[in-house]
Amino acid sequence: MTKPSILVAEDEGALVTLLRYNLEREGYRVLEARDGEEALLVAAEEQPDLVILDWMLPQLSGIEVCRRLRGRQETRNVPIVMLTARGEESDRIRGLDTGADDYLTKPFSMTELLARLRAVLRRIRPSLAEDVVQVGDIALDRAAHRVRRAGQDVHLGPTEYRLLEHLIQHPGRVFSREQLLDAVWGSDVYVEARTVDVHVGRLRKALNVDGTEDPIRTVRSAGYSLDESSTVKAAS
Ligand code: CA
Repeated sequence: MTKPSILVAEDEGALVTLLRYNLEREGYRVLEARDGEEALLVAAEEQPDLVILDWMLPQLSGIEVCRRLRGRQETRNVPIVMLTARGEESDRIRGLDTGADDYLTKPFSMTELLARLRAVLRRIRPSLAEDVVQVGDIALDRAAHRVRRAGQDVHLGPTEYRLLEHLIQHPGRVFSREQLLDAVWGSDVYVEARTVDVHVGRLRKALNVDGTEDPIRTVRSAGYSLDESSTVKAAS
C-alpha cells in the first residue's frame, strides 16, 4: 500500500528526528527540508500529500514558502500545517490569511499533531483516509485489498495493485516513471524506468475487459495518469 507522504520543512534537527520517528510509526512516508528554498524544491519534485511547515526557516520564511506553494499549479492544493514558536507569531498567523490549513504552537504533543494531520487529510483528501476509493467505474477497497470495475472483480498482482492505489488517489494527475518508481517500488530500490511501462501494461490489461474504455492515459515523454472520466480514449 502506498503511504501518504509528508514533507517536514523544519530546521531544528532534534524536532525533525522526533517527527520522522512518530510519522513513520503512523505509516507516513517522510520527506525532509531544512530551509525554505529546499522545501519548495522538494514539494515541487515529490508532490507530498501534506506539508508540515515551520514558520521560522532559514533562506525563506515559512510564510513565504506557504505563499509560493499556493501560487504554483502543482502544489496549489497541498494541505499545509504550520508550526510556530509560542508567542512568536501565532497571533499573526491566526489573523493572517496564510493559506495554511491548520497551525500548531510549539511545544506541541505528538498526539495532538497526529490528530490534526489526520483531520486535515480527511477533510482535504478523503481518499487518503477512506477504505474505498472510487474513480469513474473503478473502486479500490484498501481494507479488503480488492479492486472492482463496473461491479466486476479485477484481479491484480501486488505491483499492479500498488500502482493503481497510487494513481487512483490523484485522478487526472500525470506521474513520471521516476515518480511512480519512487512511490510504488521505493526510492532505495534500483528498478529500470521501463519496468513501470511493463506493469502499467499489465494493469491496463487487467482493468480493460469486455471493451471498457482505457482509464489510464499515456502522456508521451511525461508519464501516466488515471483519468476521472471513464469515457477517455486509450492514448497509446
Ligand atoms: Ca525554525
